[in-house]
Amino acid sequence: MENKKVRVRFAPSPTGGLHLGGVRTVLFNYLFARQHKGTFVVRIEDTDQTRFVEGAEQYIFDCLQWCGLKPDESPVNGGPFAPYRQSERKDIYKQYALQLVEKGYAYYAFDTPEALDAQRKAIPNFQYNHQTRRQCTNSLTLNPEAVLEKLAGNAPYVIRIKMPENETVTCHDLIRGTVEFNTGLSDDKVLLKADGMPTYHLAVVVDDYLMQITHAFRGEEWLPSAPVHILLWKYLFGLDKMPQWAHLPLILKPDGNGKLSKRDGERLGFPVFAMDWTDPATGNTTTGFKERGFLPEAFVNMLAMLGWNDGSGQEIFSLQELIEKFSIERIHKGGAKFDYEKAKWFNHSWLQQLPVQQYADKVKPYFVKAGITIADDAYLHKVMELMKERCQVLPDFVEQSAFFFKHPEHIDTASIAGKWNSAKQQFFAELIRNLELATIWNAENLEKDFKEMAAAHQLKPGELMLPLRIMLVGGKFGPHVFDIAAAIGREATIHRIKHTLQLMQA
Ligand code: GLU
Repeated sequence: MENKKVRVRFAPSPTGGLHLGGVRTVLFNYLFARQHKGTFVVRIEDTDQTRFVEGAEQYIFDCLQWCGLKPDESPVNGGPFAPYRQSERKDIYKQYALQLVEKGYAYYAFDTPEALDAQRKAIPNFQYNHQTRRQCTNSLTLNPEAVLEKLAGNAPYVIRIKMPENETVTCHDLIRGTVEFNTGLSDDKVLLKADGMPTYHLAVVVDDYLMQITHAFRGEEWLPSAPVHILLWKYLFGLDKMPQWAHLPLILKPDGNGKLSKRDGERLGFPVFAMDWTDPATGNTTTGFKERGFLPEAFVNMLAMLGWNDGSGQEIFSLQELIEKFSIERIHKGGAKFDYEKAKWFNHSWLQQLPVQQYADKVKPYFVKAGITIADDAYLHKVMELMKERCQVLPDFVEQSAFFFKHPEHIDTASIAGKWNSAKQQFFAELIRNLELATIWNAENLEKDFKEMAAAHQLKPGELMLPLRIMLVGGKFGPHVFDIAAAIGREATIHRIKHTLQLMQA
């Protein structure tokens, strides 16, 4: 196994929005593949037609693209093991199910839905397993002629694995070490359904084999299925061919109480999906990190730290650095609590670190939505440079810097009215005349002149700064006030001071 070329797979079922836990699974697969110069496969596991959701597959690929996690082989870009969509591989699986029946590891079950319902009513917590299979209608209880007759008569059947009554299955998980399972605890999972489609359990094993997968990273919630998969490997292909398993720790609710769900996000007001997802059945949209104004670099960085670190205390990693430093040994066994404030901290750090040119285009639509047209990119970049320290997510730029693009609608005169007097009124009236004449329009000179004027008027600059800010911004926020004046320019600065002076006189 060690010398084999690394091949990993992300195998989503296209049933809805992509939870951040799913993206973290993609990420760890991707990092491991890139680090080992291996291949990252995306396989769509869509054998459960009842759970098929229109648009969900496309959505998954859109999310991967947004995150910059490009598959090497997938239904979209093809590859030597195509097709990569299980519904298009339907004919492959049946022969393996039949092989298992032939070897005595699986059996035909002819129970009708009504018969199974009756069993469920009669036996509390009914499971189709080694205890109950003898009371059901299957090739273990019927005589061989009756089985042949049913098959010849096209009676509907499923094929189920015959779980051993009491065996220990052992697996070496790359994160958890040796994990043992008792086969008697698992039910006889359906492998092939009545419609001829394989279930996930059969398809995942067959495809991991045929696609020569060497390492399988997946969420911890799949651990209970592992004994079934391991037995299928043993029965069909041999354990020496089985990929190495790595069951990733759960992402937990902020209070650590259970797995983070879409509903927690709705309840607590934060995104759980990578991108906006609109459920085609209900038309309801669930917000994504992208639309909430996260940079993909920050989202990916934050996900990597949910359950992994490099041991040095470093928290900000580029994708390239993650590829270099990622190690399975440093993935935690315990669940990782999701903390939205921390997620925003990552975004803030990335906003500070990236040149604005790299995310300016992402900010623009938020301005457009707020009815602000950006005519001059260079000006937008300048504003973003001044504001990036204060913004955590992209919409913050609009909320906090609209005054750079239009005069403030509301001027918080109440904040300055208490200490307002004629001396200040005169000062600002003169300031207007000085600004009209100023030869060099930059923050440094504006500040110097302002302070000199304050001294001449025997006023403390500190007392004049808040009124100036309220005049230019409308409220008590924003970056350095002379940076604002320098950016908005002479005309707007003078206009806003005049406007507030009029309000103060009224
Ligand atoms: N199709 C499974 C899912 O939806 C994949 C589990 C696995 O990776 O084996 O998560």
